[in-house]
Amino acid sequence: MAETHRTKMLIMGSGPAGLSAAIYGARAGLEPIVVQGLQPGGQLTITTDVENYPGYRDVIQGPWLMEEMQAQAEKVGTRTIFDTIVDVDFSKRPFRLIGDGGDIYEGDTLVIATGAQAKWLGVPGEEELGGKGVSACATCDGFFYRGKKVVVIGGGNTAVEEALYMTNHSDDVTLIHRRDSLRAEKILQDRLLSNPKISVMWNKTVEKFVGGGDPEGLVGVDLVDTQTGEKSHLAADGAFVAIGHAPATEVFKDHLDLIDGGYIAVEPGTPKTEIPGLFACGDVMDHVYRQAVTAAGTGCMAALDAERFLAEEEFALMAAE
Ligand code: NDP
Repeated sequence: MAETHRTKMLIMGSGPAGLSAAIYGARAGLEPIVVQGLQPGGQLTITTDVENYPGYRDVIQGPWLMEEMQAQAEKVGTRTIFDTIVDVDFSKRPFRLIGDGGDIYEGDTLVIATGAQAKWLGVPGEEELGGKGVSACATCDGFFYRGKKVVVIGGGNTAVEEALYMTNHSDDVTLIHRRDSLRAEKILQDRLLSNPKISVMWNKTVEKFVGGGDPEGLVGVDLVDTQTGEKSHLAADGAFVAIGHAPATEVFKDHLDLIDGGYIAVEPGTPKTEIPGLFACGDVMDHVYRQAVTAAGTGCMAALDAERFLAEEEFALMAAE
């Protein structure tokens, strides 16, 4: 039977942003409920080696880190519930989320931390070679391609930044773009085009990621020219797909101000949305940094702001009595 769950702090999403908010919220006595969503633990659960989350001198595994974060959040008093939210009501407080089995979640405050997903090309080999040469994050995985030959696919700011970043590790970086001009900002384009370690292949799309070797890993990409249809092959040890991200905000589209292709709009430098008591943190509001550690940081900020919001409200009520 459908149940109603009520809390002072409701959190939607269980990646580093949501669980950090939960840890802070629980320690402040707000008894948070985390509604986990379709991918409990978020993007890190589909990553393998993590080497840039502070506090661990040796490489750790993404899924393990998220298990630890969840256990930590639960230990200090968080309830985690697996459900998929199909509808929301932000018109009045408590804020309401409706689960796909009919359960209702009510929060005096709400922290949205539903994250974003990297967009993928959807071509053969991409999924099979994920973590074995194909990645969507150079900042996360670039280090593993020291001295190797890598390609970056895309023509926006992310692709150009990832190509530039990869020159810290590799002298042989190729940017593959489907048109003959870049979408990225001029200053980034200038840096890219003047970098001797980077070459650009214009008007090319990747048709296939090709695996080989033992253990199997990426050995190259099959390309097709968008102008002539000519096919070619480029050898590569690593490929970074950087064709944009899609924030998980479909369910909010009629309820919240969304900007830049679906990201939740917040007051600059804060996790505050236009609705008092409703906060957004992590990749669902941040299209620039997109790191586990920045998501965790903004999750902490959201919890602190939610706590302050409730305290101020309580103070105002007492003063009015
Ligand atoms: P963008 O949407 O800006 O760029 C995506 C790129 O991928 C485009 O060049 C696009 O090609 C290409 N692309 C999309 N789909 C395909 C496909 N199926 N096959 C081949 N190529 C494809 O995404 P970004 O992630 O680069 O940036 C997102 C937002 O974040 C932007 O507003 C950006 O400015 C911002 N950003 C800002 C940064 C900063 O300020 N430092 C850093 C990173 C991002 P085409 O050009 O032909 O459409």
